[in-house]
Amino acid sequence: MSQPTVRIMCPNLSCRKLLAVPESARSKTVRCKACHTAIRVPDAPAPQAQQSPDEQKKSA
Ligand SMILES: [Zn+2]
Repeated sequence: MSQPTVRIMCPNLSCRKLLAVPESARSKTVRCKACHTAIRVPDAPAPQAQQSPDEQKKSA
């Protein structure tokens, strides 16, 4: 079983390397292996609402 990864492209225009980082790196900053540019891994995209959104509010 392979770990789910996020593919991001290095923003360095002279590098543009495609990096695969683990899902656990989301919202964190990673470094390009090639040029060592710090890249922020975007959060997971908002899931598309397939059904009517059901707000779960915890009564606490
Ligand atoms: Zn790079």
